[in-house]
Amino acid sequence: THALSISGLKKQYGNGFEALKGVDLTVEAGDFFALLGPNGAGKSTTIGIVCSLVNKTAGQVSIFGVDIDENFAEAKKHIGVVPQEFNFHVFERVIDIVLNQAGYFGIARSVALPRAEKYLKQLSLWDKRFNQARELSGGMKRRLMIARALIHQPKLLILDEPTAGVDIEIRRSMWEFLQQINAEGTTIILTTHYLEEAEQLCRNIAIIDGGKIVKNTSVKALLQTL
Ligand code: ADP
Ligand code: ADP
Repeated sequence: THALSISGLKKQYGNGFEALKGVDLTVEAGDFFALLGPNGAGKSTTIGIVCSLVNKTAGQVSIFGVDIDENFAEAKKHIGVVPQEFNFHVFERVIDIVLNQAGYFGIARSVALPRAEKYLKQLSLWDKRFNQARELSGGMKRRLMIARALIHQPKLLILDEPTAGVDIEIRRSMWEFLQQINAEGTTIILTTHYLEEAEQLCRNIAIIDGGKIVKNTSVKALLQTL
């Protein structure tokens, strides 16, 4: 099955701007997939539609075979999303941000706590668990969003520019963590405007520009054409 299947996706914003002009995309289960493109290409719009934060103008999206229009409640169990903007309460503690997300998915505290510990440790945030989110650095906040997105153990993790503004050392440790999560079976889709990031991490890649997919290939094949 496909982890994600998008067809004929169009988005026209309220001001008339056409951000997506018919996007078709499929991502296989288990893949580590990059959506690469310059600023303004339509990456965040695509991600926003997949997680139902943005309304689409036309087209279809399904997640592990579940159409988001037919059953978003079911589809969203399968996805964890790491948006670009920090969207947690800065006065909340790290551990509460992660556990509250578990509560949101109906996960018992006895199950959520060891999971939170595992991910926060792997992301070097366990020592910060009793700190308020506002006390974290930008890179730590980004990692907190990753831990939160994984707490319900989604089959598909979607990250919008996860390493934007993160320094190179932290970026490398985030890459390692994501590779490990993918090796454990989670499908990963990330958006990026760094070719290097796609090259280092991903197996398959789609290049988006001006709201259209201009290339969709394996990273290996892409590198051979450069
Ligand atoms: P990317 O994530 O690739 O940088 P976005 O999906 O954020 O691209 O944006 C695609 C295009 O849509 C950009 O030109 C952006 O300015 C425009 N856009 C994004 N959000 C809105 C909005 N709410 N209203 C109008 N235009 C928007
Ligand atoms: P409600 O279902 O109560 O309307 P929303 O779906 O708008 O709530 O989401 C509430 C919060 O949870 C938002 O901050 C959103 O970003 C986050 N969220 C929703 N679905 C997911 C998900 N699958 N993974 C990670 N965060 C999610």
